Amino acid sequence: MDKVAVIGAGISGLALANKLKNHFEVVVFEKSRGYGGRVATRRFGEFIFDHGAQFFKAKTEEFKNYINPMIDQNIIDVWKARFVEIDNGKITNDRVWGEDPSNYVGIPSMNAIGKYMADGLNVRLSEKVANVLKGNKWQLYDEANNNIGEFDWVVSAIPPKQAIDMIPDVVYLYSEISRYEMLACYSLMLGYEEKIDIGFDAALIKGADISWLSVNSSKYSSVNNTAFLIHSTNKWASQNIDNDRDWVKGYLCNELSNLVPIKTENANYIGLQGWRYANIKKQNNPEFFLDRDNKFGLCGDWFIQGRIEAAYLSGSHLGDHILIS
Ligand SMILES: Cc1cc2nc3c(=O)[nH]c(=O)nc-3n(C[C@H](O)[C@H](O)[C@H](O)COP(=O)(O)OP(=O)(O)OC[C@H]3O[C@@H](n4cnc5c(N)ncnc54)[C@H](O)[C@@H]3O)c2cc1C
Repeated sequence: MDKVAVIGAGISGLALANKLKNHFEVVVFEKSRGYGGRVATRRFGEFIFDHGAQFFKAKTEEFKNYINPMIDQNIIDVWKARFVEIDNGKITNDRVWGEDPSNYVGIPSMNAIGKYMADGLNVRLSEKVANVLKGNKWQLYDEANNNIGEFDWVVSAIPPKQAIDMIPDVVYLYSEISRYEMLACYSLMLGYEEKIDIGFDAALIKGADISWLSVNSSKYSSVNNTAFLIHSTNKWASQNIDNDRDWVKGYLCNELSNLVPIKTENANYIGLQGWRYANIKKQNNPEFFLDRDNKFGLCGDWFIQGRIEAAYLSGSHLGDHILIS
């Protein structure tokens, strides 16, 4: 049986690995300690923050069919949020999210999705691939330059700027990858021990350096505290991604206080995550890259759009093409 190395246990890498697992010996390498990549959750005591993707939609029949078992097994559920749009400080639209179209969240948190998709796969967590070299077969190396495996196929399922540091130039797409522009984002997390109702559960914000505010704790009825999750705009984060993190926290808290009556100084927990490669605008490109001669592939949301469904489709469709080659 041919061996395939998948680099990255985000949604695209896990979708691909699941497509191939009955036909190849598949090993997934993941540099972090958990599954799901940017579909991530931070816990602090009783506080739960989905500090990457907050929710997702399923637009294609293919993805709807894929997530149906997750709905049946209570891995995901519909978030019936009280949703508002805020433009320059004023609420311009409000409605309650329903089922058509549905906005799904992981239960009890978004990282349940990665855990579900990784079940039954051989995923090597905390193992960063630092180098990939072509001999008769592909040789993978870690950061200490240890050989961590020999493979017939390699698929990179990581953001383009990270892939370019690692993949060899025998792959003819090499020079094109650098043109993909990923956008940054900051996630600010505020935890309060008491229940706080600000009148809505999720807000899309315009006219500020914050683009999103949610009461993350409203997703889960069993929670007795309040966890606010704030995303900066991509533009502001890209301009400030290397700035001092305490300054960034202070700036975003101030920006939030100007919009909603949340006393940030009373928070029992304040956390911040900077995502250098958070998102990408809609692309008009193939959904993945496959170099059959070299048995090398690339997949990820960045081929399509910064969405969970896009990441799934990129990985899954690359898997289909590897199977027919
Ligand atoms: C702040 C934020 C908000 C978002 N909001 C939404 C939303 O509301 N709805 C939505 O649908 N989408 C949202 N997204 C986008 C969504 O999360 C992504 O489109 C999707 O998760 C991308 O999956 P992926 O598999 O392509 O990449 P990733 O999730 O980035 O997975 C790549 C994986 O590879 C690992 N890795 C990287 N380099 C190496 C290496 N050298 N060796 C081993 N492992 C490595 C990483 O640790 C990671 O786990 C959001 C993203 C962010 C950051």
